[in-house]
Amino acid sequence: MNSNYSIEKYLRPGKHSETLLINQLSQLRTDNNQNVFKFGFGQSPFPVPEKITQHLAEAAHRKEYMSVQGHLPLRQAIASFHHDMENKNWDHEQIIVGAGSKILLYCIMAAFAKAEVLLPAPSWVSYEPQAKLAGHNVEWLTTHFDQQWQLTPETLECFCQARENQETPLILVFNYPSNPTGQSYSSEQLQRLAKVMRKYKIIVIADEIYSLLSYDKEYCTLEDFYPEGCIVSSGLSKWCGAGGWRLGFHHIPKQLGHAFFQAVIGVASETYSCAPSPIQVAATHAYENQTLAKSFLQKQIGLLKEISLYCSNRLRESGINIHDAQGGFYLFPDFSPFSKQLFKRNISTGEQLTGALMEETGVALLPGSAFGMPESSLTTRLAFVDFDGSQIWVAENEKAEFDKVKQGIEKLCDWLGSL
Ligand code: PLP
Repeated sequence: MNSNYSIEKYLRPGKHSETLLINQLSQLRTDNNQNVFKFGFGQSPFPVPEKITQHLAEAAHRKEYMSVQGHLPLRQAIASFHHDMENKNWDHEQIIVGAGSKILLYCIMAAFAKAEVLLPAPSWVSYEPQAKLAGHNVEWLTTHFDQQWQLTPETLECFCQARENQETPLILVFNYPSNPTGQSYSSEQLQRLAKVMRKYKIIVIADEIYSLLSYDKEYCTLEDFYPEGCIVSSGLSKWCGAGGWRLGFHHIPKQLGHAFFQAVIGVASETYSCAPSPIQVAATHAYENQTLAKSFLQKQIGLLKEISLYCSNRLRESGINIHDAQGGFYLFPDFSPFSKQLFKRNISTGEQLTGALMEETGVALLPGSAFGMPESSLTTRLAFVDFDGSQIWVAENEKAEFDKVKQGIEKLCDWLGSL
């Protein structure tokens, strides 16, 4: 073989996930003793409840492979938990458990030899690369600030009507409360969208990973209006503060057929085999202990709502276009009202904006372009969870310290004032 032989040209044109990159940049500043406000990388600031970690310790000896579909008591506990918390009517036989919901999203896409994947812009960073890994084309649907960055039935209808090959399965990944925008849909909006989805037989993955962290009681699900085509994706990562445990699940409606379910199980079996057994056992307890879950959720929601409102109000005051978050860990500030001042400073893309902010203030945000927005969009994602949530279990003092988040927001506002 030629000694100059290089494998590089055979590699996929993958890009390093921008969320991880910003985390590394933040770390670099920290290592240099420079202040960093880590609003780039969003993971739960809250610790897994101690009772649940004890169950995990007790299950450490569970070394056997479990079934690909998932531990039966866990699937039963998930169905019952989501019935009581969110009024879902799931058959545990239609639930598949995975090592995080992310790999299951990939399994759904990879179950199709051919499909088209549809994403509202902005959407979570991993949907597009996953669709491409599975060999599918991705189409982006535009959304607007004035419409809360939400997909409208008109935009969806327009896309579906114009599709060349109506036969190719169409998968829409639809996430609420949204990462990155923090927005959710009303039942009326979901009802109108469901009509279009039904008309074009769209396979929808409703990514409800943040649903239990919705701030208001009126949480609505697409499944109520489009049960036959709606796969629900969720897991332990967000509500239970257990992202690194890697435990997620999908509920796949029976109406999508046995062959489809088996195809998904097939991809799961050839990739991750089963979610880790000790984690599945501990997760069963987490889903069974609803009293614990309810008090944990109530505390988290109170804190998340308080800090998110502080941030959105303060940023709005300083002239940024922003909507209050309705759930989860994120806000989506749009700096376009400052486009003229930014342009004078040679900032005309989201990436230049977040780069300048990081360099001049230590505030780490991610550009909207990481979520499918155009390069020129001056939108950003702000994860307001750079605080120590471990005090959540300190009964006398449930207040988490938000000082660091508040300082970062002030830095950002000062910077805007100086433009
Ligand atoms: N979907 C969204 C919108 C997310 O933000 C994340 C995690 O960041 C996931 C899915 C993946 O979650 P999991 O930890 O279950 O793989």
